[in-house]
Amino acid sequence: MGVFGRGLFVRGAGLRSSRGLSVLAVATLYVACTDPPNLGDRGSGGSGGTTGGTAGAGAKGGSSTGGSSGGDGAKGGSAGANGGKGGSSGKAGTGGKGGGTTGGTGGGMTGGTDQMGEGGMSAGMAGEGGASGGVAGEAGVGAASGEGGAGAEAGAGPVDTVCTKAAASVGGKSIMHAPPTTGARPSGTPGNMKVINWAGFKGALSWTFDDNLASMVAHYPDLNAVGVPLTFYLVCSTEGSNQVWHTAHADGHELGNHTIHHCNADGNGCSFGNAVGTQDPVTEIDQCTAQLVSEYGLDGIYSMAAPNGDTGWDAYASTRFLLNRGVSSSGGVLPNSNSDPFNLPCHISNGPDNGVPDATNSQLAAGPGGFNELTDATATSGKWDTILIHGFGPNDYGYHEVQISEAVAAITYSKDQRDAGNVWVDTVTAIGAYWRAQKAVSSATPVTSGSDITYSWTLPEHFPPNMYLRVTVDGGTLTQCGTELTWDDHGYYEIALDAGSVTISP
Ligand SMILES: [Zn+2]
Repeated sequence: MGVFGRGLFVRGAGLRSSRGLSVLAVATLYVACTDPPNLGDRGSGGSGGTTGGTAGAGAKGGSSTGGSSGGDGAKGGSAGANGGKGGSSGKAGTGGKGGGTTGGTGGGMTGGTDQMGEGGMSAGMAGEGGASGGVAGEAGVGAASGEGGAGAEAGAGPVDTVCTKAAASVGGKSIMHAPPTTGARPSGTPGNMKVINWAGFKGALSWTFDDNLASMVAHYPDLNAVGVPLTFYLVCSTEGSNQVWHTAHADGHELGNHTIHHCNADGNGCSFGNAVGTQDPVTEIDQCTAQLVSEYGLDGIYSMAAPNGDTGWDAYASTRFLLNRGVSSSGGVLPNSNSDPFNLPCHISNGPDNGVPDATNSQLAAGPGGFNELTDATATSGKWDTILIHGFGPNDYGYHEVQISEAVAAITYSKDQRDAGNVWVDTVTAIGAYWRAQKAVSSATPVTSGSDITYSWTLPEHFPPNMYLRVTVDGGTLTQCGTELTWDDHGYYEIALDAGSVTISP
């Protein structure tokens, strides 16, 4: 490439500066960069020209760590991007846009001086301050004949997107029911954080109701009156809109996805109409989600129930939801277990479909094989289980329907066990999110810095906002996003999961 060097280009994985683009535009002597600007957050600048090259433009700084240095790689990260360094005879680079906390250093720190003695065309322009909170970019230093750029304005303050998102929950209290336990704030050695199982209860139980049959709509007030959060999996072709589900959402119950037509994932076996197209599981799920979110004003749908318990749905659920309830009765889910979150087990009553109970089937609350026995089993095994009920008989055509009186008696029994500290009774998403977050947080390796110990975690995809875990420590003060957490006299701290970390200090 002779005196023109390699020309140099901004291939940084983070170029966003329009100024950078303008610099590229004048690089007519050189092969144009055909790589489109990459809009990723972490920048690394282009290579500066060696001889006669046009400077590379600074890349946008990333939110935490970025590329290396301007010109020969823009400096990203919290310090913001540096402008490209001018080629020896070229034009100085343009200042990069600052990262999240401080503005970029100005454009080309030195204008180029070419081999023929002419100064660089101009100094680079100043770096732009960070979007918020940037320290002003430093003006570029002019070359012999170049002109210094002006410093950019400082921004308003550092932006921490994680803590911004977590602000709604950090330092707050969850809506999870509190166990009847008590415990004084520990005053021992700071550290040794442990997540307590099932929010402080021995086991956990979710009541789920599928298919929104007429009897379920009719008996919603009876179910709601018991006073525990329930999960309703709605078939969108039949209950895309019904005032009773508006009420259920307002009452704190979960509305979940049970697809549009309740088919197997291959489009066969539909219970309510025909599958969209012939075999379109994606639309069957996504259109139902969109309908429920829009109709009921939800912030998202976090769980589905596989129609017919068909495991063909599992893979589709895994890319859209946090959880999918199947129908296999595999005995529940243990804390920190590797159970499949996209084929959660459940119990279905095994009585006749006519909803007429007898003393030997599990459509009854009490008695052998009844619902109360399942409730007790979660406490004794320390597991989370789900119970599935369809319509309320007799003769609402539900699958193994039960009598409403038995259902209410069974849910009431589980509530009593909750109040005794034995069973956490909550929605699939509330308990499932706790289960999945406990795994993420429990596997975190604490990092010690001075006298501080920090635990950091990454939540699973499709995780709902504003969720908490209950933890204990040996001692110390817990902070998240600069907020000190208060001890809960039931015997734990509640850490906000959106914060992504918690620090324990003396
Ligand atoms: Zn169903």
